[in-house]
Amino acid sequence: MRWSHYYLYTTREVPADAEVPSHRLMLRSGLIKKTAAGIYTYTPFGWRSLSKLMAIVRREIDRAGGLEMSMPMVQPAELWKESGRWQRYGKELARFEDRHGREFCLGPTHEEVITTMVSHDLSSYRQLPINLYQIQTKFRDEIRPRFGLMRGREFLMKDAYSFHATAESLDETYRAMEKAYRRIFEACHLDYTVVEADPGAIGGSDSHEFMVLAETGESEVVHNVADGYAANVEKAQIGALEAPVAQEAVDRQEVATPGASSVEEVAKLLGVDTLKVIKTMLYETDQGIVAVVIRGDREVNEIKLQNLLDAQFVALASEEAVRAATGAPLGFAGPIGLAEGVRLIADESVRPLTNFVCGANKVDAHFTGVNWGRDAEPDEWSDLILAAAGDPSPLGGGELLSSRGIEVGHIFKLGTKYSLAMGCDFNSVEGGKKPMMMGCYGLGIGRTVAAAIEQNHDEDGIIWPLPLAPFQVLLLSLNAKDETVTAAAEALYGQMQEAGIDVLFDDRKDRPGVKFKDADLIGIPIRVVVGAKSLADGQIEMSLRRTREREMVARDGVIARVKELLAGHG
Ligand code: ATP
Ligand code: MG
Repeated sequence: MRWSHYYLYTTREVPADAEVPSHRLMLRSGLIKKTAAGIYTYTPFGWRSLSKLMAIVRREIDRAGGLEMSMPMVQPAELWKESGRWQRYGKELARFEDRHGREFCLGPTHEEVITTMVSHDLSSYRQLPINLYQIQTKFRDEIRPRFGLMRGREFLMKDAYSFHATAESLDETYRAMEKAYRRIFEACHLDYTVVEADPGAIGGSDSHEFMVLAETGESEVVHNVADGYAANVEKAQIGALEAPVAQEAVDRQEVATPGASSVEEVAKLLGVDTLKVIKTMLYETDQGIVAVVIRGDREVNEIKLQNLLDAQFVALASEEAVRAATGAPLGFAGPIGLAEGVRLIADESVRPLTNFVCGANKVDAHFTGVNWGRDAEPDEWSDLILAAAGDPSPLGGGELLSSRGIEVGHIFKLGTKYSLAMGCDFNSVEGGKKPMMMGCYGLGIGRTVAAAIEQNHDEDGIIWPLPLAPFQVLLLSLNAKDETVTAAAEALYGQMQEAGIDVLFDDRKDRPGVKFKDADLIGIPIRVVVGAKSLADGQIEMSLRRTREREMVARDGVIARVKELLAGHG
């Protein structure tokens, strides 16, 4: 491709809302253009990179037995009412009416459509398992679209759905898809990790996320190298925390704690360890008011809480709601004497405590010498703690480390959640109808490309991993006015095309400085530079964007050397 005839316009301007390197670099190197908030146009240059990823994805999902298809983006409300998600999905679901007043939505995901199709066509265990996929545009009206393609409102996703007669069969496909995902991210030369995940709004049981490790990632991952535990912090469990030694119960006392409402203030005032002060957090949920008791120095994992309650929403209670539930202002809540109807859930972290301190549900007052059983008893015990770096791994291998990641893929075992709701049955081998078991497998196309840039760039620009580079080779012709140079560059370009090399030829009339700056910015892996000085010695300069290593190659050896480098980096 000749740059002079191509649609590739780089820019120095960086919009203020481009907060992360991949977003800035994708705009600056002309890969994407913003059309509206969270909605982007992919230029021919950007589309090449996305297309290369899509080809890798197709190759690997086909290999895992997936059958490619395509479903509509516009989906009728009836299907979503049948699954129950029309009510539950919330504002990310973009809904509209057609001219006849019929309700529709823009598909944020496709379980409803695929389950309906399969339930019409398949009726016997003999037709199972089946694994169907598409690469298609999704729309989610994200509350905070940001980071360019990383969190868009309109974005490309590969989504696959598998249908099974048995849990074993689902297991087998789930493992095959996990392997396919590993192969995809390895083929992209990405540094990634697989973690246990929370199934979230899509629902289901087993679930894993593929995380590309990057400082700017929106997800937090905790892991332990020794025992192999790795989980999204939303889902992470921890081993037993060290607890203070149990003591003989003393009498419970109400003590005045004027002005002290935080755990630290109370501990200081009473001269006790913060570990002895528990905190009581109040939440408003669609399942009513809930009080969660947790160790004073720890945070509640609201996703675990939402899952435990099977709630659609969970939010910290307003001051008003706190007063209604405790009879006191913020900062003095405790498990003793909460209002009728407040569900009290205690995190395992407070179970071993004896003679602890808690709020007295009264302004400027706390209780000391509180003991479970005698003074208070939760409605239930649960694991609601937000894991943190330094916590013991649940598998016993020592401390957890924490790092940031970009979730590029997510696989779930859905079980019979959708097939039950939507009547997707089959005649089983034993006779009689059964709901099909389902799995679903998502992979963000734009997000993966953005993640690749997040992981591969420097202050001058992108350093494309070869498999995702829009072009593999950049041929630069310097000294546009020098006919010998131009002729040599043209000849090389012809030879490269002949040899099937994926080349972008910078034949623009610009100054060498401009061309080199652009070359650094757009980050094509292999650079071939035709300049007057070296050409006089019959030499061409070649270099790699990643290492910036240069070498001089004889003019007639360039094609062979390019092929050698491509083979080495493929
Ligand atoms: P997140 O927690 O980041 O919102 P999700 O759990 O909602 O992601 P899934 O529903 O599992 O995502 O979607 C599958 C894949 O689609 C994700 O792993 C991600 O790669 C991609 N994806 C999801 N939301 C977006 C988005 N707003 N923009 C770009 N890609 C997205
Ligand atoms: Mg989401």
